[in-house]
Amino acid sequence: MKPVIALVGRPNVGKSTLFNRMTKTRDAIVADFAGLTRDRHYGSGKQGQHEYIVIDTGGFEPDASSGIYREMARQTQQAVAEADVVIFVLDARAGLSGQDYDIANYLRRLGKTCVLAANKAEGMREGTQLSEFYELGLGEVYAVSAAHGQGIRGLVEIALEPLGLSESEDIVDDDGKNCIKLAVAGRPNVGKSTLINAWLGEERLVAFDLPGTTRDAISVSLERNGQKFEIIDTAGLRRKGKVFEAIEKFSVVKTLQAIESANVVLLLLDATQGVTDQDAHIAGYILESGRAVVVAVNKWDAIDDYQRKLVERSIETRLAFLKFASLHFISAKRRQGIAPVWAAIVQAHSAATRKMSTPVLTRLLLEAVQFQSPKRAGMFRPKLRYAHQGGSNPPVIVVHGNSLEHVTEAYKRFLEGRFRKEFDLVGTPLRIEMKTSH
Ligand code: GDP
Ligand code: GDP
Repeated sequence: MKPVIALVGRPNVGKSTLFNRMTKTRDAIVADFAGLTRDRHYGSGKQGQHEYIVIDTGGFEPDASSGIYREMARQTQQAVAEADVVIFVLDARAGLSGQDYDIANYLRRLGKTCVLAANKAEGMREGTQLSEFYELGLGEVYAVSAAHGQGIRGLVEIALEPLGLSESEDIVDDDGKNCIKLAVAGRPNVGKSTLINAWLGEERLVAFDLPGTTRDAISVSLERNGQKFEIIDTAGLRRKGKVFEAIEKFSVVKTLQAIESANVVLLLLDATQGVTDQDAHIAGYILESGRAVVVAVNKWDAIDDYQRKLVERSIETRLAFLKFASLHFISAKRRQGIAPVWAAIVQAHSAATRKMSTPVLTRLLLEAVQFQSPKRAGMFRPKLRYAHQGGSNPPVIVVHGNSLEHVTEAYKRFLEGRFRKEFDLVGTPLRIEMKTSH
């Protein structure tokens, strides 16, 4: 499981600027998907071999007392509580404020591992003015500049250090040939435990739990048609004896971790609710993670034809960015339509791990260019020369050539369509990277 870093601090100290720095690589990739509602508070980042999840607790209001703010505060506090480490962001220019003391007390009560970041420290002499922050009594203070990208690497390193991650830990990653890691993601009450229990009733159970994890991760392995699956700990579920049961609390952190450690994510929706904001957010994380995905709309039995039309339309508009995924309408309770979901999971996994050879990719690329060449941009006409595979789950296709920075998003989508068709890439995102040689 990836470690979780929470960014905490009063408004305007630079949390979201720091968040953007820490999640930079992923941002660029998902910037242009239509219909993607992004929750700007959660993201993934990577430093060296170490991947992490970062949470910007923008709505941090320890005392919010009502309505939506209360729910936000609850989620935020839960996230801080579940985080492995907190980066407490301070404003090196403005100095300490009363609110900083309040937050410090809150963090102390939680007993969290904290790293203090004095932000906006660009151009300030080393050591000056940082001394007052030691008054908070939370330990070492690090000068950084989120806006100018100074000290961020060191800060992340220090934040991750106490977690004792060994370099090799996250490299051990077979691509799931032997066992497909599946996360069932969805809001509370969509029917996750009902579906998993229906499956467990039918299939041969191999084993419960993976030993050696410090977190209370739960997982279950089963085999179906000779293929092994591991259903990994999914937010809002708890194992009780041989069945899963839903728990009240929904955890964004656990959802993210489950998605990140899966090969394939089954996104479960509730037909009686349509696509809610929270569904769209979860879908956004899945896209961002690059995992393969299958979408299933549960409780199809509970609505009439008119409502079904509405649900179908809301999926088309609100989840347009998951168009590459296969879509299923099921009833977990009546065990209707759930076998094809298994098939789709296997198909998505196989697409996500497809091997694409350089000669075939290059031939497809050149055929595509012949069919429709990229537009000239001023003096530049992009020249696409060859392509090779740069990764899998999600598959990455790296295109080489000249002036490729002028290739439009529309043209990339055109290429994506051709590659998808040829390699039958249903159920996986596909990333196309342009590598210009000068
Ligand atoms: P948040 O409310 O804590 O999320 O703060 P923001 O990230 O929105 O930043 C608040 C303001 O501080 C913005 O105007 C940023 O441009 C500015 N800011 C953020 N980081 C830095 C920094 O490293 N140096 C300076 N000088 N300004 C910064
Ligand atoms: P979870 O929180 O996502 O694990 O959801 P549960 O599996 O606990 O299901 C929540 C509620 O929805 C329970 O009352 C289930 O009986 C009900 N439910 C689950 N699947 C279906 C279904 O296919 N049709 C209908 N009508 N109800 C369902």
